[in-house]
This record gives sequence, structure tokens and C-alpha cells, in this order.
Amino acid sequence: MTDKNSAKERTAIKRTGNNRKKEPEQAERNSSLCPVSKLCGGCQYLDMPYERQLKLKQQQMQKLLGSFCKVYPIAGMENPFHYRNKVHAVFGWKKGEVVSGVYQENTHNLIPVERCMIEDEKSDEIIGTIRNMLKSFKIRTYDEDSGYGLLRHVLIRRGFATNEIMVVLITASPVFPSKNHFVQALRKAHPEITTIVQNINGRGTSMVLGEKEHILYGKGAIEDILCGCRFRISSRSFYQVNPVQAEKLYDKAVELAGLTGKEVVLDAYCGIGTIGIIAARKAKQVIGVELNRDAVRDAIQNAKGNRISNIRFYCNDATRFMSQMAKDGAEADVVLMDPPRAGSTEEFIRAVKAVRAKRVVYVSCGPETLARDLKVFGKLGYQACGVWVYDMFPAVRHVETVALLTRKAQ
Ligand code: SAH
Repeated sequence: MTDKNSAKERTAIKRTGNNRKKEPEQAERNSSLCPVSKLCGGCQYLDMPYERQLKLKQQQMQKLLGSFCKVYPIAGMENPFHYRNKVHAVFGWKKGEVVSGVYQENTHNLIPVERCMIEDEKSDEIIGTIRNMLKSFKIRTYDEDSGYGLLRHVLIRRGFATNEIMVVLITASPVFPSKNHFVQALRKAHPEITTIVQNINGRGTSMVLGEKEHILYGKGAIEDILCGCRFRISSRSFYQVNPVQAEKLYDKAVELAGLTGKEVVLDAYCGIGTIGIIAARKAKQVIGVELNRDAVRDAIQNAKGNRISNIRFYCNDATRFMSQMAKDGAEADVVLMDPPRAGSTEEFIRAVKAVRAKRVVYVSCGPETLARDLKVFGKLGYQACGVWVYDMFPAVRHVETVALLTRKAQ
């Protein structure tokens, strides 16, 4: 990568940032599709026609990544509403009523939400039932200032392909009076719920979930199906929130890996093992690495459940693990990587080179950090061959991409 290119890239990042304020993010309809969209702030593009949203995201990716390689046309959704399979509601008390919803951005001001345009509708319905049940069960919502009360949040995950539903009740203390009756009544109102978990989060923290959990009903996790494989998902494991688009993204990622059955593949930041397990049938061996212990546990079970025996998972920091692999003289033909929005590290990328990877498939939900990392890859001898863009978050400004890099001939 030349200095000229990096200067171009910096300008691109700046421009995208500047443009954002000028873009018609706000209502273009006479009334918004959502009565609380301004206060909530979660859906910056909700009232922009969907075609325009896609065009805007495509332009942004072109500006940010177009100097590295070709940016392919964005893949949008047929129905861009109610796509989120994970719904989270904060519980509180306002004017003598139980309310649930979201905190206004950067505040602890609770905005009541009864129906959200991007969340799974069934999950919103269950949250409504819980809201109505609290009074008759005399369960108080947690008050952050006084520290009194029990219920802090409700998290619901639904497997769109299996219809399994997990309800996680996040409480401030382990003592949950009349919990058996509560669970019974909730199941009676919603027989479609397949598991209910109590998660205890007693800390004064902005994290939603605590460390401790009790299963109140069912198996404590749900399963979903993606790309023909079945995945177990527990409350604290990462799972793509838009499975319809995730399926397209993973298909592309595995296709780009160019597997023939002979390759050793490293799946870094592997979560519950999704991409590695889907790729394993076409590879000789897959190694998955992931920091979250629960996710690794899910990944091991997922490999077993899908009868995949050529995959191993390690609970470790991806950079530390890859650097150690390189020090040990291990080699990998393909590296699949899917880091969080903060991206990867130069040390990790150096280790990719040291294990002599020929191909890298980089899945990213943070295009700015992808651009930063592509620059490092370029410096270390990897050429970006293309970026494919997926609209994983309609109505929201985030974008998901998958990039292919190959080692330059030396
Ligand atoms: N590939 C998976 C998960 C992607 S999300 C999927 O498609 O579902 C990113 C994952 O990286 C999360 O599971 C997170 O726990 C994990 N992670 C975050 N920081 C990490 C690190 N330093 N080393 C390894 N894994 C990490």
C-alpha cells in the first residue's frame, strides 16, 4: 500500500463521518414508522426508503474500502423489518406503572417501547406479557439509584428456523420469590417458550448479563439452523442478530475460502463455531479460537451435534493464540477471521503471515477498523481481492462485510 492510498483512505473515513450529519437520516415520511425513534436513536435510517438506505451504505463502503479493491453490490433484505432474533428490554417504573424499553442514548432515561420495527414481534409480545405479570406477582423492577427491586432486564432469543425461544430474566439478586408460579404463568401465556433462564446481575454495571445463571425451565439454550448446520446458542454467546442475512454472509465466506478438502483452516474469533463448522466439511482440519468460555462450550457441542470431527476449539485470545501457533512453527492454509467491531491487531496479522496463510477471509461489522487492518495486511504482503457487503442491520447505520485477501507472490 502506498502513502497516497493511505492518505486517500484517511480522507474517505473523514468524509463518511462528515456526510453522516448531512444525510437525510430523519423522517422523510409525514410521520415516523416508530413513535419513539428520535428518543431511542437506535434506527438512524428507519424513515429512509429501503432502496435509499442500501444506496447510501454502498456509497459509504465504496468511499471507505474502494481504494483497496472492488466493492461488490450490497445484498439487501426482501423484508427489512422485524429481523432481530435477539431482543433486550430494560425494566423500570414510571408514574406508578411498570415500563420496559431502552435507555435514551448516553443517558439512563428509560424510553418505553412496546413494539419495535426491527425486533422479532413474538419477542416483543412476550416482553409485554412479562410487563403485565409483574404487578400481580408483586415483583418490583430494579431501581439503579436506590438499589431496591428485583427485575433489571429481559432478554429474548428466538431461533427463526427452529422456533425455539429463550427468555432470560436478569435479576439483581438470586432470591426470586414465587419464581415457580411466575414461570408456570409465563409458560401458560406463551407455550411457545422453550426455555427460561434467570441470570443474576447484582453489580452497578452497564453490562446486561451477569456471570451466574439458573435454568428455571427447559435446557437453558436454544438451537437454530444456519447453512444446513444446527447451532446451540446460550444466553451469553454471540450469535448474529439477523440470521436471514447471516446465512448469505457465511455462504459467501466459505465460498471465498476456496476449500478443496486438503486445507488446514483457522477460524479466529469463532464464537459458537458457526463459520468453522460450516467450512469443516470442505476442509482437512479446522481450528477455532474464541475468548468467551460459554461460546467455546457451545462450539464444542455444536461440532458434536453436527457430527463434525475434524475441528478443535481453544478458549484463548485470538492474537495470543495465533502468535503462539506461529512461534511453534505451525502452518494454516486459510484464516477465517470475524473480530468484534474494534477489529484485529497488527500482531495477529503478523502471525497470519508467519503461519504462511495463503488466503484470509475477513468478516467485519466495523468497516473503519477493516480499512485500518487491510492497510496492515497490505504492508505485510496480502492483497485485498474484493469486499462483499451485506445489509445485516436495515434501518441502522451499521454494515457487515466480508473481504478476501490473498498472499502476494514473493
Ligand atoms: N464468528 C462468530 C462470532 C463473531 S463475533 C459468528 O459468526 O457467530 C466476535 C467473537 O469474537 C465473539 O464471540 C467474541 O467473544 C470474540 N472475541 C472478542 N475478542 C476476542 C479476542 N481477543 N480473542 C478471541 N475472541 C474474541
